[in-house]
Amino acid sequence: MNSAPMARMAIHTITTKPWSLRECIDSYRKKNVPGITVWRQALAPQGPQESAKMLRDSGLKVVALVRGGFFTGKDAATRQAAIDDNLRALDEAAAIGAPLVVLVCGATPGLPLADARKQIVEAIGKLVPHAQSRNVRLSVEPLHPMFAADRSAVLTMKQAREICGNLTAELGGAVCGRRLVGIAVDVYHVWWDEALESEIAAAGRLGLLHAFHVCDWRVQTRDLLNDRGLMGEGCIDIRQIRGWMERAGFGGWIEVEIFSNERWAGDQQVWLEQIVEAYGKHV
Ligand code: ZN
Repeated sequence: MNSAPMARMAIHTITTKPWSLRECIDSYRKKNVPGITVWRQALAPQGPQESAKMLRDSGLKVVALVRGGFFTGKDAATRQAAIDDNLRALDEAAAIGAPLVVLVCGATPGLPLADARKQIVEAIGKLVPHAQSRNVRLSVEPLHPMFAADRSAVLTMKQAREICGNLTAELGGAVCGRRLVGIAVDVYHVWWDEALESEIAAAGRLGLLHAFHVCDWRVQTRDLLNDRGLMGEGCIDIRQIRGWMERAGFGGWIEVEIFSNERWAGDQQVWLEQIVEAYGKHV
C-alpha cells in the first residue's frame, strides 16, 4: 500500500502544544501540511473570532475542534454543566469553520459504565438540535480501556457504533440523514481490538466514519496519557488500519495527534519535521 497523500495530512495543535495557534498555523503552512485540528486551549487566548480570522487567512483547512464530551456525572447539575460547555464548543466549531467536534465522552468513578453510556446517549441527544443548526457533526471517540475509570465509558468501536445506533433510533432522520453523529477512529485507542477490521467496515456501511487519528503505541509506555509515540516507533500497523478505513469508504483527513511530554519538552520545529517524515514513511 502506498504512503498516505500529503493532501490529506492534518495535525492537532496539541501535538505541538508549546506553540500558540499563530505558531502552529505558520509552521504547518511552511511544511505544506494542509489541515489543522484545533484544540480548544489553542483557541482560548485570542478567542474564537480572532482565531477564525487567523485560520481563514492562513488557507489551512480546519478539520475538527477538539474536544467536547465529559458528559457523565452523579448529579443533574454536573451533567447540565457539561451540556452547556458542549453547546459552547459547537458554537466555537461553527465560528472557526470546523465541521465536527470530537467527543471524549466521559466516565465517573463509581458510576457503572453501562449507566454512564446511557447518560452519554442522553447528552448527545440533547446536543443534536444545536449541532444541526450550527451544521457541525458530533464524533464519538472510543478510548482505550485504560481510560475507563474517569475519561470514557465508550471503549470500543462496537460501543461507539451502538451509541450512534441508539441515537439514530431515538432521533431518526435528524441524526442519520446528515450523519450528524458518528465515530472518530484513533489508532492509539482501538489498535488492539480483535474486531477492529469488521467494526470499521460496519461503521463504514452505516456512514459513521467521521475522522481518523494516527500516532503510535510505545511498547514501553511511561505515562498513560502523555507518552504517545511518533508513527513508526511503536507497535501499531497504521498503514493496515488506514487500508481498512479506506476500504470502508473513508477518504477524509488523516490527523496526527500525539501527546508526548518528551516531545513537548524539545524543539518543536525539529519535532514537526520528524512528524512530516514519519507520516510519509509509516502512514
Ligand atoms: Zn484522537
